[in-house]
Amino acid sequence: MPTREISNRKSGPKQFIYTFSGGRAEGDASMKNLLGGKGANLAEMANIGLPVPPGFTISTEVCTWYYEHGQTYPERLFEEEIPRALATIEEALGRKFGDPENPLLISVRSGARASMPGMMDTILNLGLNEQTVAGLARKSGNPRFAWDCYRRFVQMYGDVVLGLKPADKKQKDPFEEILETRKHKLGITVDTEFSTKDLQEIVGQYKAAILDKTGRSFPDDPHEQLRGAIGAVFESWNNERAIIYRRLNHIPGYWGTACNVQAMVFGNMGENCGTGVAFTRDAATGENIFYGEFLMNAQGEDVVAGTRTPLDISQLKEENPEIYRQLDDIRATLEKHYRDMMDIEFTIENNILFMLQCRVGKRTGPAALKIAVDMFKEGLIDEKEAILRIEPEQLNQLLRPVFDVKEKQAAVQSGRLLATGLNAGPGAATGKICFNATDAAERNRRGEPVILVRIETSPEDIKGMAVSEGILTERGGMTSHAALVARQMGKVCVVGCGALSIDYQKGEMRIEGSNVVLREGDDLSLDGTTGEVIAGSLPTRNSEIIEVLVDGTRKPEDAPSWEVYNQLMQWADRYRHLQIRANADQPDQAAIAITFGAEGIGLCRTEHMFFGGERIQAMREMILADDLEERNTAISKLLPYQREDFYGLFKTMGSRPVTIRLLDPPLHEFLPQSDEEIMRMAIGMGKPYEHVKERIAALHEFNPMLGLRGCRLGILHPEITIMQVQAIMEAACQLRQEGLEVVPEIMVPLVSTLKELEITAKIIHKTARSVIAEQWIGVKYLVGTMIEVPRAAITSAEIATAADFFSYGTNDLTQMTLGMSRDDSGQFLPTYQQYDIFPRNPFESIDIEGVGRLITISASDGRSVKPDLKLGICGEHGGDPASVEFCHKTGLNYVSCSPYRVPVARLAAARAALLG
Ligand code: ADP
Ligand code: MG
Ligand code: MG
Repeated sequence: MPTREISNRKSGPKQFIYTFSGGRAEGDASMKNLLGGKGANLAEMANIGLPVPPGFTISTEVCTWYYEHGQTYPERLFEEEIPRALATIEEALGRKFGDPENPLLISVRSGARASMPGMMDTILNLGLNEQTVAGLARKSGNPRFAWDCYRRFVQMYGDVVLGLKPADKKQKDPFEEILETRKHKLGITVDTEFSTKDLQEIVGQYKAAILDKTGRSFPDDPHEQLRGAIGAVFESWNNERAIIYRRLNHIPGYWGTACNVQAMVFGNMGENCGTGVAFTRDAATGENIFYGEFLMNAQGEDVVAGTRTPLDISQLKEENPEIYRQLDDIRATLEKHYRDMMDIEFTIENNILFMLQCRVGKRTGPAALKIAVDMFKEGLIDEKEAILRIEPEQLNQLLRPVFDVKEKQAAVQSGRLLATGLNAGPGAATGKICFNATDAAERNRRGEPVILVRIETSPEDIKGMAVSEGILTERGGMTSHAALVARQMGKVCVVGCGALSIDYQKGEMRIEGSNVVLREGDDLSLDGTTGEVIAGSLPTRNSEIIEVLVDGTRKPEDAPSWEVYNQLMQWADRYRHLQIRANADQPDQAAIAITFGAEGIGLCRTEHMFFGGERIQAMREMILADDLEERNTAISKLLPYQREDFYGLFKTMGSRPVTIRLLDPPLHEFLPQSDEEIMRMAIGMGKPYEHVKERIAALHEFNPMLGLRGCRLGILHPEITIMQVQAIMEAACQLRQEGLEVVPEIMVPLVSTLKELEITAKIIHKTARSVIAEQWIGVKYLVGTMIEVPRAAITSAEIATAADFFSYGTNDLTQMTLGMSRDDSGQFLPTYQQYDIFPRNPFESIDIEGVGRLITISASDGRSVKPDLKLGICGEHGGDPASVEFCHKTGLNYVSCSPYRVPVARLAAARAALLG
């Protein structure tokens, strides 16, 4: 087992047990690592005088000890410490554990540092046997209640400690079966209707079932019961559910769970009793209302079990105003004390209220924002704390379109959920299936919403993607072309949905393991937040914030969630050091980026600019030209388009910096594939079909990713660079004339040696100077490079001599550092993650030790020769909070991400600065 984190506090024997009882506890809320969240908060509630039944916490160190010593306990534990701790409870309550006259009953509860809801086990009513149950019956004057407890105890203990709980959902719990059969026989539906005699007989049947299944009889000795229960709680730390949950939530296995032993209070003694759960505010919306449910005459999990319908907490106000008032007071006390929204569990025993648990409540993104801003207004927290209260990813939930929750639930329940893929672009989309970009554009023209379904996408699909509500692919990972472009466009996107099998020829798709066949034009819905693919259409709507910022269909004053968002963003901007730019190629994208708070463009990819209308034709002519003259003719057709593109982009961005990357992709991506298209191309160029076909074949590469691309293109074909730089500079000059100061940042891709950059930079400078000279206008510009090849990263001291800026292209840098194709890694990365080979997908979150180390070396080497070297990052990682934090620590000037990630990056940058 890996190393532990809890320091040895002092020499001498370690304290394994921490007691708590009315008004006083040995632990407190700060001791979660040692006492688990539940134990620490029980101690805290006791300390602040809330009514907590007395008990003690066996620390997580005992759990670790248990696993390090072959599932055994420290010697003193059962001999000395537990008896001593039990004695304090007995003293506080005047009852005795195992006493046939006046028995103390206890609960034995799991509870780790981080809450792992429902993953581990708890046992209630421990300490009962034939003698003590009789004692409890006499003492309470309520035999039915005593036997109800015994029935519950034998069932829970049998399930959890003796292992009778079924392993999967198909099997039935033997105890539930006994219970159901009897209810059926008696014609009753809820167990409050059982008589004492029924319960006695059920306990008998339970015990017989246990003997039958395990060959052992149910333990009668309360101390033996306790030892078994503690063991089961520790064991539950390593049950399969818990292990999976930990993996998903990045919780390390060595933390271990604590074990809380606590005197029982009884919600099942009659109509003056009950139990409930509540949130101090609405966890879905954040509204400042008391939100919860309760049941009278019930215990433990009855409220959430679903057999009886729990009542709204507001009804408690009518049924028992005094208890409600107490609970409402506690709600206020807890919020003041913890300065946060809390999730609580309580029990009422004979009109007396007891608190059994409290923890910081889980909440949706919208609720998190509202609560943080409200609590600032209420003076509970300051703005820094408000920023730290929100996980940057939670902002996404406020920006994406949403499905109507009820409609979606109904659809899933009625079997319309077809498959689940990777949730690449969050939000909700619904529309008609199209299998190619042309059909998508056509349907869109007719005003129909479209879902573009592709095996995978390529740059040619861009126009189809742009007109679609959502994009679905069979293959590809979280950084596949489809995912990347979708996020940049802010489209809903589900990728790598392997259960689909798409047949373009037939225009249909099938779903593995079902006989559903969907055809072009059929309705389909995508939940990009969860990756779910649902048959048929579902109502969606834009979020309020998008309606204000992008659509302009809602006034800020009519959008409470925008107000909250705006407030939080203002705070974030006050504290962050990093600048935030966006990756955008088009004026409309750029405009959206600005409304989201982008301060510049960190990456304008120019390849998309070559696809529309006649451009692709001219581009193809350029690539297939036989000589320089032909090539120049084709290029001169492209120049005006490019100039217009850059003009539009610069104009939208005003004086904000814009980084333009010279053409990067392999040329064959632009070429026609089908014979028909090649023929048309040949006719257009006035050349024989065979000739054109051969030229295309000659451009074929075995490994295009490592082939003729990036700066290599411009070194072989300087005309392309010249044309692009001319277009950039002419656009800048024109705007300068119109009074706008634009400073283009021209970026050279895929450089690995100084020489490559020098050759390209020379062409850039020569062209730029000649434009400036020709136009008689002074325009400043920068020349920089992407650092995306490991060689460039480790020779940055040299490369910096020819660069004004570096931009880390972390998609390629990750791909090349790991020798792992981002488009093919979907096959093995899931398994890699099971083995914890990478803590996170390295294409989503920077591999800090490897790729991050290269960036760190490059940044410090680069700045050692050029202290004012501007540094940024423009890979997909620019919108990932953990990567943003890394960039902050490394001292970069900016991060650049897709427009819709800009708010996330702003918040992440502020948090990094506050935590740093
Ligand atoms: P979980 O972590 O799954 O919520 P808990 O340890 O909180 O498990 O126990 C579940 C429920 O059992 C509690 O919400 C409470 O209703 C009941 N419970 C636990 N301990 C006691 C106790 N000492 N007295 C009465 N009810 C208890
Ligand atoms: Mg609980
Ligand atoms: Mg690249």
